[in-house]
Order: sequence, then structure tokens, then C-alpha cells
Amino acid sequence: MVADQLQRVLTDTFGFDALRPGQAEVIAEVMDGRPVVTVMPTGAGKSLCYQLPAVLLGEQNGVALVVSPLIALMRDQVSQLTANGVAAAALTSASSQAEQSELLDNLRRGEYTIVYVAPERFRSPRFIDALAALGDRLSLLAVDEAHCISEWGHEFRPDYRQLKHAVAALKPPRLIALTATATPEVRVDIAQQLGMAETSFHVRGFDRKNLHLSVKAVSGNAQKTSTMVELIRTRNGGVGLVYAATRKNAESYNAALKDAGMRSRVYHAGLPDVDRHASQDAFMSGDLDVIVATNAFGMGVDKANIRLVVHADLPRSAEAYYQEAGRAGRDGDSARCVLLFSHSDVRLQQYLIDITYPGADMMRALWKTLKANPALGADTERLRESFDDKPSTGSLQSALQYLSKHGYIAWDSGVAIAVQPQQLGGTFPPMDIPGLERRADSEKSKLHRMVDYAHHPGCRREFLLSYFGDPASAQVAAGCTSCDTCRGEGGTTALTEQQHEHVKVLLNIVSQVSGRFGRGRIASVARGDDDDWRLGELPERGALRGQSTRYLTDLLRSLESASLIERSRGEYPTLKITRAGERVAFGEDSADGLRVFASTSKRKRKRKAAAVINDADLDPQMVERLRAMRLELAQEMSRPAYHVFSNRTLDAIARDQPETLDALGEVPGIGPKKLEAYGEAILAAVRGG
Ligand SMILES: [Zn+2]
Repeated sequence: MVADQLQRVLTDTFGFDALRPGQAEVIAEVMDGRPVVTVMPTGAGKSLCYQLPAVLLGEQNGVALVVSPLIALMRDQVSQLTANGVAAAALTSASSQAEQSELLDNLRRGEYTIVYVAPERFRSPRFIDALAALGDRLSLLAVDEAHCISEWGHEFRPDYRQLKHAVAALKPPRLIALTATATPEVRVDIAQQLGMAETSFHVRGFDRKNLHLSVKAVSGNAQKTSTMVELIRTRNGGVGLVYAATRKNAESYNAALKDAGMRSRVYHAGLPDVDRHASQDAFMSGDLDVIVATNAFGMGVDKANIRLVVHADLPRSAEAYYQEAGRAGRDGDSARCVLLFSHSDVRLQQYLIDITYPGADMMRALWKTLKANPALGADTERLRESFDDKPSTGSLQSALQYLSKHGYIAWDSGVAIAVQPQQLGGTFPPMDIPGLERRADSEKSKLHRMVDYAHHPGCRREFLLSYFGDPASAQVAAGCTSCDTCRGEGGTTALTEQQHEHVKVLLNIVSQVSGRFGRGRIASVARGDDDDWRLGELPERGALRGQSTRYLTDLLRSLESASLIERSRGEYPTLKITRAGERVAFGEDSADGLRVFASTSKRKRKRKAAAVINDADLDPQMVERLRAMRLELAQEMSRPAYHVFSNRTLDAIARDQPETLDALGEVPGIGPKKLEAYGEAILAAVRGG
């Protein structure tokens, strides 16, 4: 019965023949009164999940309330609904006093089927009164952009936190929370924050088969810029979108694209309104080859023929990445999403997180400084100079903002005066330092996950779908045909034999210093350039001397992606070996499936090619004899083979074919101790005995 009615409303009011995948289940549960958290990307038909039930319930005089933080979006939806003959209205701060009063009167009388409100409305007693007057005519409460309720989400809004009180007071018979982007952690938090019991979670629609995902490693700004320009130049028709992490970078990429003769414009929050709108208009009307933007661009951008989205800088989280990359190929035709990955970008994002979340010490020091010298508040540069550790202007500004918001700073003609909130009167939200620290930690672990995506040795689609908890991840568990790793287009490569040895060394080190050190420190132990005397006994210390730190940390990341080691949470994560890692370390299992990040650096590639040619020149029988001898010695000492000498040294011996101990001593990797211990045995193996 209900199904028939839903179909009638779907066709008559919304003009659709059928629901899209995922919508039917959500709508059925909403109608049944089960609390639902639904995660669907933009464009997957999220709003119909509450609009359709609202219209059906409106036929029995029900009034649905929709909470949304975006005025522009509310207006769009109201005008679409009105055009479809649904009585809808939006109650926002943009309406005049008179309009608001009229709206509230209409609401009281139940004249609307759907009313959109901003979360801060719930602070208004008049609004609460009007809702109370509705009584049991309130048919459902939908909370859109529900990730804003979670402090783990990327757009936390304190006003959303108040919604749980509204839910408790109104007891809506149907409750649905919707968002386009939420990790499993955030989804659970949404349900808890809204006081939902026995919540049903739906995650659908993240799998976009027409998007081709890839990552290109770049080193340095020049290589990054030229790669980006080349990608835009060779895009397959349509228009390109380049995302930059900062306004400054956006300006510089835009300049490079213009120099290369592209029709390019820039869009960021630092531009005057008129320029920003001009950029967006030019982009929408198809007058551009490319637009370069910061994350300020995107809300409501719905252009069908974006063929290429390049992230020139690393985004701050996988949610942000997929939301931005997902603007490509809205028309369903194939489109590319390329992430340019440079290690220095990780530091840039870490810096951006640090300045967004000033620490307690910093705020305390700032407050004391201003107390002693209020005039400094007018001049951030002088204020900065007054600190011994010269914090960045950005972090000072965040700290100033935070203190003002919580009533610890009063502004008087541009001068910041340190005060206590009770001196100011009025009400201020309480200062939540631990909360601030938790959020900074959460941002950092999201950034780590984003870096993991760049280094991911397997299917990129699978990585993202699992990250969001979309059940479609099971379908691509065996790989796909639309990402660089599955198509074997660079990105990552299988391990060489030498790299297999390196993996064992690293696993052995991680196992022995378990949980004490992070990635950088482990690499430095492997290289032997740490100066910690406590590690003197560690047999693997220095076993990978001569390997670059970058190479070793990349290898560690790959081990982590393959779950051979795991990383603790927090700002200074340490590494620990897993059961699977132990099996590989002890030679009980191989790391055959492991892949490593392929560097695009030309010099490295050449060096690798040269090594391959040399290998072919070596006498295979001599190599075999040396290997057998090494294994024998290693087994005698119960040590790993590389402890005797590395593959590189083995190759060098086979190449030089030394006949005397002196000549053997010249081979790189054979020091006096090794010469004394293994010299005769090595010479015998070279001779063939
Ligand atoms: Zn794939």
C-alpha cells in the first residue's frame, strides 16, 4: 500500500519513474520510523530520501523539518519543491524580521509540508514555540550535512551540537540524518549526538565507475607545475579543475597555466566577490580550459563535463579528496582524477593543521602577553616578535580568534585587551582545550590516511570505498579496471629481490624496537646514522647503510599498507610488527604481494636500468656459489643472510672477482671485520671451490 503511494508521489510530484539504488531502502526505513543515518555522495539523490516521505506524510497534514547549514542550498531546494507544487519554505537569517514572523505564523498553522531551517534557529524561543504548536503534526526531522554535528567531521559546527536537545524535546516520529561524506567513526558519532537508538546505517553510491583514479609522484615545485600543465594540456576534451592547498599556490598554478597558453582562471576566498563570481561564471559557461581553486570552490558547483580533476597539492583528508575529485565526470562519461604527490606537501598540511588548532601553551602565553601589553594586539608582526619561539602569524591569528570567541579577548579599536569572560557579560561558549587537541589529532590521523592513499599498493577504488564503508568495496576487492595500480600504469611496482631483503631488515628492526620508534627513526637505525647507544646490540643496525631515508620510509609505508606493521595513533605514531609481519621477518612467509611506490624521478630510473644491465653481465654460477656460501654462514650464526653481506655487495664481488684478501677489501661493503671473518670463504667461492 505504502509502496504504491510512494510510487504515485515519485511520479506525480517529482517526475521520476523509479528510485535510484539505495533510495528505496532508506525511504522504507524512514516511513517505518526507524532512525536512519545515510551517507550518499552529492548527486546520488540524497534529498529525495526525506522529501518523498515528507510529501506523502504531508497529505495527512504532516510537517517535515529539515535542518541545513547552507542558505543557498535551502533556497534551491525550496524553489524546486515549490515548482513541483509542494508547500515549502526556508527560515534563514537572510529573511527580514517581518518575513520571519509571517513564516512562523504559517508554520504554526501547519501551512507547509517542508520547512528548511538553519541549526542556529533552535536557539530562538519563538521558533521553539512555533514547533511546539505543531504538536504531533511534526512528521519527520531530517538533519542534512549531518557530519557538521561531529567534532571528528571536517566541518564541525557547534550549533549542530544543540540539535540533540531539539530531538529530545520534539521527539519526532521519524528521524533521518544525511551527509555526503562521513567516515565510519563520524557516522557513529552522528547517531550518538542525535540520541538515535537502534540506528540503521546506509552507505551507498560512492562507487563511480567512470572515474579513473591515479597518483603521480613529483618532487619539487617545478616538476609538479610542469606535470600539472601537461595533464591539463592533454586532457580529453571538456574542462579541467585544479585544486590547490593555499591561495598562494592557486595563484601560482594559474599563472603557469596562463603562460602555457591555457584559458585559465583562479577561484579562492581571498578574491573580491566580483572576481570570484566572474571566475565561476566563466567556468560554468564553458569559456575556460581550466579553473584553479582552493577548497572554497565547490559548494553547489555542478558542471557535467569536468573531464579532469588534478589535485596539485595533497588534500587534508580522503573525504575532502573524494568529494573534490568526484566533481569530475558528472555526465557519466569517463573522467580522470589525478593526485600529484610530493612529500613536502605532507609538511604543508601538517603546518596548516597546527595553525588551525593553537595549543593551550600558545593561548596562555598570548593572553599573558596581551595582558601586559594590549597595544600589541593591533600589530600581529610586533606581537609575533615578542615571543621567544616566533610562532607563525597564522597560528597567532587562530589563537586570537579562539580567545575572542570564548570571551578572553575584547577588541577595542583594533586593540586586543586580555579579559575574563565574566567581565564582558553576555554568554560565551566554554573553552574546550582537550576538545581542540582531540580535533587536531583527528585531523592528523586523517592526513595520515590521505598519505596512505597515495602510497596504497592495491586498488585505489577499493581503498576509498572501504574508507567510506561502502559495501561496493567488496565488488572491487579483486581489483578494477579504472585505477593506475590495477591497470599497471606505474604508481606502484612489485618488489625486486633486493627489496625483499630490505623488507626483512626493516621488519626485524620494527620487531625488536616494537612500539618505541616512528618511521623516520626506524629508517635511521637501518641506515646506521642514529646515535642511540642503547641500540648498539641490534644486529640490523646499519644493515641498509647507503639507502636513502626517503626510500626506506616509503618501504615502511608499503609494509604498513600491507598490514605487516601497524602504526599507533596520535601525533607521534610509533610502529609495531603484526603477526603477518613476523611470519615474513622469520622467512615463514614471503611478501610477494607487496608493492612499492614507483618514483618518477628520472635519475633514479636510470640508475635502476644500469643495475639491471650489470646483473646480466655477472657470472650466474659465481653468483650462485656466493649465495650458497652466504646462506651457509648465516645459518651457522643463526643470522639473516644480509648480515654476512648484502646483495649489492654480493653483486660487487661477482663483478670484481677479487683473487686476494687485499682486493676483496676494496669491494664496497666489505670492511676489515668482514674481511677477517669471511674473507677466505668468499675467495674460495669466487675461485669455484
Ligand atoms: Zn583499481
